[in-house]
Amino acid sequence: MKAKQKRIHVSEQGRPTAPGNNLDPWYSSYAARAAGLSASEVRALFAVASRPEVVSLAGGMPYVSALPEDLVTNAMSTVMRDEGPTALQYGSGQGVPKLREQILDVMALEGIKASASDIVVTTGSQHALELFSKLFLDPGDVVLSEGPSYVTAMVIFKSYQAEVAHVPMDDNGLIPEALRERIAQLKAEGRRLKFLYTIPTFHNPAGVTLAAERRAEILQIAQENGILVLEDNPYGLLYFNQQPPNAIRSLDEDGVVYLGTFSKTLAPGFRVGWALAPHAIREKLILANEAAILCPSSFSQMVISEYLSQADWKGQINTFRGVYKERKETMISALEEYLPGCTWTNPNGGFYVWLTLPDDLDSKAMLPRAVKELVAYTPGTAFYADGGGRQNIRLSFCYPTPEQIRVGIRRLANVVNGELDL
Ligand code: PMP
Repeated sequence: MKAKQKRIHVSEQGRPTAPGNNLDPWYSSYAARAAGLSASEVRALFAVASRPEVVSLAGGMPYVSALPEDLVTNAMSTVMRDEGPTALQYGSGQGVPKLREQILDVMALEGIKASASDIVVTTGSQHALELFSKLFLDPGDVVLSEGPSYVTAMVIFKSYQAEVAHVPMDDNGLIPEALRERIAQLKAEGRRLKFLYTIPTFHNPAGVTLAAERRAEILQIAQENGILVLEDNPYGLLYFNQQPPNAIRSLDEDGVVYLGTFSKTLAPGFRVGWALAPHAIREKLILANEAAILCPSSFSQMVISEYLSQADWKGQINTFRGVYKERKETMISALEEYLPGCTWTNPNGGFYVWLTLPDDLDSKAMLPRAVKELVAYTPGTAFYADGGGRQNIRLSFCYPTPEQIRVGIRRLANVVNGELDL
């Protein structure tokens, strides 16, 4: 039998060239799943937006300058003095046992009771999303998620050739009735539903929080339909006024995989997050973790563990809350002053406001003009898998100072008003 020809084209110089993409000679060798990993135009614009004169309301970078440097350096020196060789060594694929015990205290703040043996430490919760997707997604599977949803989770789902089916939200989060209908519709179409990916608290990008009574209802719908719930909760402890409802995982330990992270309550540079999963899934996650990275960083985990032991970490979370609350309030009052023709969500925590433009304005088409006016934002279309969100914008208030936020919203208003005058 004739061997199947590999589709690499050879140029005159003998180097392979790729049909349809002159810049990348290996274009035709990529796996099909790599097609989902294409850089968007928005990403290119963000390179321009990182210039210092541009006020960026686009990224979701935590304000790490609010973390006193000595809290970290003290923890680092204690680790190096007392346990240097262990911290610099490979470790367990499941994560440092002491840190897993301490993570129980963090999750207890959101009503979760668990065993440290059910926690798998990962390289940020982003990595947990990757491992979970690797375990559960086959090409053609469907992931249910809020519409809009966290863009980089959808990139992962798509890279496993799964499809994202959005379920609408309102000011109280995911709408249970809409979830029921979407599941029924997809099942009638014979689709394979794998899990519901949800960010119930201080949603990225929508800023809304799933109401307590809806949490139980959504769990019940998932159970009735045999669908796992993947609860992604990076922002839950960053509330501004009243504490949000307990995590969905606090209501059920068998049907929910919970993802947590130290990126927002401490610092993302450590790259330490975790998954809390039912026994069998946890075992698979450990194997997948070992296969991908052998073990999460021993050094980062041990420094965080020491920080949790010696520093007032709850007080530090309070400090972060104060910083973000002031920035959110500044953003909302600037919106009221400069953009009265728009509507927006008013989050009680987290990093993001979701804005709706007036008169069918297109946020993506408007972005180059905004960057020219020295303000950047993320267009709503980035957060939908189905082309939705044209009239929306995600505004981040976490990183810019209150003064910059006011300037940024004023510039945005100039752009919006300019579009309306056209
Ligand atoms: N999930 C959501 C909803 C996020 O907003 C983020 C960070 N932007 C992550 C996961 C990933 O966080 P990390 O990998 O830093 O834990």
